[in-house]
Amino acid sequence: MNLVDPDKYRLPVRYGPEMRILVVGGGIAGLTLTGLLQQRGFKPTLVEQIPEYGTIGYVIVLWPSGSRILKGLGVYRSLLDVGLQFTTYNVSDERGQMLHSYSVQNVIEKYGPMLSTYRPDLINVIKEAVDPDSIRMSTTVDKIDQTNDEVYVTFSDGTEETYDLVVGCDGVRSKTRDLVFGDVPLSYSGMTGWSFWVKPNIAKTLQIAEYWGTGKFFGIWPTKGRLSVFTSIRDNVQEPDPVESRIDRIQENFKNFGGLVPAILEGLNDPNEIFHGYYNDLRMKKWHKGRVVLVGDAAHAILPTAGGGVSMAMESAAVLVDELCRADSKYIEQAFESYITRRRSRVDKIQNQSRMMSKFAFADSRLVSSMRDFLMRFYSNKLHVRYWDSMLKEPI
Ligand SMILES: Cc1cc2nc3c(=O)[nH]c(=O)nc-3n(C[C@H](O)[C@H](O)[C@H](O)COP(=O)(O)OP(=O)(O)OC[C@H]3O[C@@H](n4cnc5c(N)ncnc54)[C@H](O)[C@@H]3O)c2cc1C
Repeated sequence: MNLVDPDKYRLPVRYGPEMRILVVGGGIAGLTLTGLLQQRGFKPTLVEQIPEYGTIGYVIVLWPSGSRILKGLGVYRSLLDVGLQFTTYNVSDERGQMLHSYSVQNVIEKYGPMLSTYRPDLINVIKEAVDPDSIRMSTTVDKIDQTNDEVYVTFSDGTEETYDLVVGCDGVRSKTRDLVFGDVPLSYSGMTGWSFWVKPNIAKTLQIAEYWGTGKFFGIWPTKGRLSVFTSIRDNVQEPDPVESRIDRIQENFKNFGGLVPAILEGLNDPNEIFHGYYNDLRMKKWHKGRVVLVGDAAHAILPTAGGGVSMAMESAAVLVDELCRADSKYIEQAFESYITRRRSRVDKIQNQSRMMSKFAFADSRLVSSMRDFLMRFYSNKLHVRYWDSMLKEPI
């Protein structure tokens, strides 16, 4: 005979917006997720490690599949105010000879504008939809423990709280992931590079211009009133990049490039204003463990070559919120599984695409890059539109 009532010690079930949610990381995914949750009556807490939002980041191109999430958040008009709609994408060889100029006009007519934004502007736009009182700046998580029913979190300021679920949106080097999933290695692409701003008097273009060399890439990305450069070179061993000789290295690597590149290289003067990074992506078998789930780069960082990381982070945030609306604290893992099922194949596809594009755009043998340049002449605008169709027409 069973004398213990199994329900006696169970915690009360919390339904939908009643659930206690912690979001770690207030970047693109974290703010989008928090804003969408609040819109639906949830009361999440968001912790962000930096003391204040500043000027971190360069130009981000938002796909219509990402930016339409801001329509639902009610901040799309603000995005249009700060974004630059680009219509043309020019690819040249390293000497500056145009391989192809692609119009994205047909893509825009079908799916909406392709907008390039200054990352801090995009952050400010999404922040408009988030209750400032729900954000704890200068705060991170130091400890995360969980049982079948709850998650216990210790914050960097020593305080402790209990949640029904925790969402890790803390980027490619996620601490939430480290604390809960252990060491999950990033996949290094063999590419490293520099990003920096170009003074508008040095080069003017309102369209994306890319120069493809042998194992080297130089991309010029404009947004409203600003021009950023994103470069990449092959570097299999992750060479160190001392700041004091950074400009010399960039100039040496791209000295044979033509078009707008020589003028831009000439104008480089402050190595401290140049960002250097090693490009990684991340593939994880599981994006959740118990009551902790990952979103955005923390779960599925994507190489910058496809230019889809931000849109994927926003799409994933929107899908998770959608699932949480129909969830409760008891069956939360079911909601996580549905979120992952809905997102997995699309994210895999974009990750594969970005890996393939990196092999193509950064081809490191002279023979392969010559063949690529030759083939680019036959990669028509029609094929380019078909590529975008395959990226944008499927449901998120
Ligand atoms: C050079 C480069 C160029 C790129 N260009 C593009 C592009 O043109 N288009 C595009 O779509 N994508 C681009 N990406 C990718 C894009 O930046 C990311 O995919 C996107 O920012 C992911 O959003 P996220 O919210 O997951 O992470 P992030 O935007 O990185 O946000 C993570 C947030 O978490 C915070 N955080 C970190 N650790 C902690 C912690 N322990 N506790 C609390 N908070 C924490 C961070 O301060 C940050 O605010 C580029 C990436 C690189 C490296």
